[in-house]
Amino acid sequence: MPETMRAVVCHGPEDYRLEHVPVPVPGPGEALVRVEAVGICASDLKCYHGASKFWGDDTRPAWAETGVVPGHEFVGEVVALDDAARARWGVEVGDRVVSEQIVPCWECRYCRRGQYWMCGPHDIYGFKRRTPGAMASYMVFPAAALVHRVSRDLPPAHAAFAEPLSCALHAVERGGITFDDVVVVAGCGPIGLGMVAGARAKSPAHVVALDVSDDRLDLAAACGADVTVNISRQDPLEVVRGLTDGYGADVYLEGSGHPAAVGQGLNLLRKLGTYVEYGVFGSDVTVDWSIISDDKELDVRGAHLGPHCWPAAIRMLESGVLPMDRICTHQLPLADFQQGLDLVGDGSRSVKVSLIPG
Ligand SMILES: [Zn+2]
Ligand SMILES: [Zn+2]
Repeated sequence: MPETMRAVVCHGPEDYRLEHVPVPVPGPGEALVRVEAVGICASDLKCYHGASKFWGDDTRPAWAETGVVPGHEFVGEVVALDDAARARWGVEVGDRVVSEQIVPCWECRYCRRGQYWMCGPHDIYGFKRRTPGAMASYMVFPAAALVHRVSRDLPPAHAAFAEPLSCALHAVERGGITFDDVVVVAGCGPIGLGMVAGARAKSPAHVVALDVSDDRLDLAAACGADVTVNISRQDPLEVVRGLTDGYGADVYLEGSGHPAAVGQGLNLLRKLGTYVEYGVFGSDVTVDWSIISDDKELDVRGAHLGPHCWPAAIRMLESGVLPMDRICTHQLPLADFQQGLDLVGDGSRSVKVSLIPG
């Protein structure tokens, strides 16, 4: 084992540096993992720029804590673990593993009730010094982590997509989709594409994807959307009404984080429809709340992280049903992390950007 490794370290907003740091030493019940790939998430970028609201936690500072290694969507190989960790997770040295992005405390009221994704302390890899993330050669899985094995047959960047995919599948579950539903997915980035695939797996009548990019809509079709609408050219309301005898969509899954997508969803839904919000917004959004009450009696549901959806996400990746070669557009060495962040920030040239520590 080397004693030092390369890692991206947060020194404050827009000040991330590649440094040599000590390889972490796993404590009792923990595992040391060699990182094979780490995806860059929109939330990483928000954090990089100093956004304050991402994890819905007012107690955390406006950026990842100084000194933290970012990166919460990753896959790696177990290189060291003790018997306690072996017994708890059922993994061995050499296994390829992912860990859910939240490391629950298992003591707060949410954790005690099985709602671990709402854990009070809310330790997510890559945002707090307590749980350093994966933009490094090695990382530690704490004893409280939730760990899953992943097939070696997947390219590393594809396996690391288990994190965003689990999030998308959770949003789909929140939608309570039934067979006759017309489901609309807003935004065809990594989360929206996962929503499309998840909604398709529920076998509704139609899965309608909305975006402003024809390339992304093409990808959405490959993920299972049978109707795609470029909202810069075509009126989605007209399309959805055409599919529903004029009533409107049954379920709307919002994965874009664009303020205009909120009012759009309220308008596209039929009466008694279900709105699921997964997107995260840079500022407050204003809509006509009377649509939710007086007009349509909508169910409006939030969704956060990917609780209880990791095994399904991993199965979906291993099944090969997703066009992962097209979703994972960029794999860069760790040293090019800045270029990776810029690619995600630009948005138009990439879908999922990953770093390969190597
Ligand atoms: Zn993420
Ligand atoms: Zn907790």
